[in-house]
Amino acid sequence: MFKRSAGSPISVITGGAGFLGSHLTDRLLKEGHRVVGLDNFITGNADNIGHLAGDERYRLIRQDVSNFIFLPDDVDFVFHFASPASPIDYLEHPIPTLKVGALGTHNALGLAKAKAAKFLIASTSECYGDPLIHPQTEDYWGNVNPIGPRGVYDEAKRFAEAMTMAYHRYHHMDTKIVRIFNTYGPRMRLRDGRVVPAFIGQALAGEPLTVFGDGSQTRSFCFVSDLIDGIYRLAMSDFHEPVNIGNPREMTIREFGEQILRLTGSSSKFEFQPLPVDDPKVRQPDITRARHVLNWEPKVDFEVGIQQTIEFFRSRIQPAVH
Ligand code: UDP
Repeated sequence: MFKRSAGSPISVITGGAGFLGSHLTDRLLKEGHRVVGLDNFITGNADNIGHLAGDERYRLIRQDVSNFIFLPDDVDFVFHFASPASPIDYLEHPIPTLKVGALGTHNALGLAKAKAAKFLIASTSECYGDPLIHPQTEDYWGNVNPIGPRGVYDEAKRFAEAMTMAYHRYHHMDTKIVRIFNTYGPRMRLRDGRVVPAFIGQALAGEPLTVFGDGSQTRSFCFVSDLIDGIYRLAMSDFHEPVNIGNPREMTIREFGEQILRLTGSSSKFEFQPLPVDDPKVRQPDITRARHVLNWEPKVDFEVGIQQTIEFFRSRIQPAVH
């Protein structure tokens, strides 16, 4: 059990075995925190935290945070990162996605309140839906279809933001909201359906790259270490309104596919498939607020980050021969 008397801060991360939760864990440990990870492993992966086995500053609890969270420890920070987060995942788990955004957020806020801890929620650029203003600033209210297939994620996160602001205003809690734009890097799941692992996996396997629609839709990709740095700065700030964290470098999905073919040296071709329902046509974060409030901007070049990601997937697909 972690107690404040030992000195270093104690952080709880829901979704602690996920892609972002595990990178955030590493960063917090590096900053001297002790960390309790909570994960129900719907989409989390024990491999992401395997390197922490035996570390006395770390503990993992298997728990669905949509149920009441009981922790005997003292807690200084609660980071609520649990949620299926790729379109395929939340289409496969629509009800758990709604529950973790709603009930899970309520429980995570309740834990933070009971422990007098600070709270940070992982929100999303999906709050902007298929945006009608471009790039997206935090004061844009969004264009979301509540009853479409993506609604289970988008509306859960919008509800989570509303709940977080209510706890801030009515319980005077110290809360933060980060709106995370497309992020990539090692520890993504090869088959989570997102475009980064999908294209890299296909390119390395010599399979066609599945481009949805005509590939003219845009996204802006942020390397995970940049994202985690923005989140850490936000957690340490005293800013309570939502902050976009993402990389403003925008490209079409077709252009992204061409880059992946070039950087992997693959001769795969494009295979055009139907565009998923409500797939946003454009997405690019306006990071003026993050620049001003957090003195943050992304540092990792696309080519550098994507090469590291390709190497990660290469080692997964073609295990080294010993
Ligand atoms: N996409 C694609 N092929 C794939 C997976 C995704 O063309 O195999 C497209 C998808 O339609 C979207 C973009 O790539 O326009 C980013 O999709 P992703 O699932 O990574 O995340 P999103 O930004 O839509 O949440």
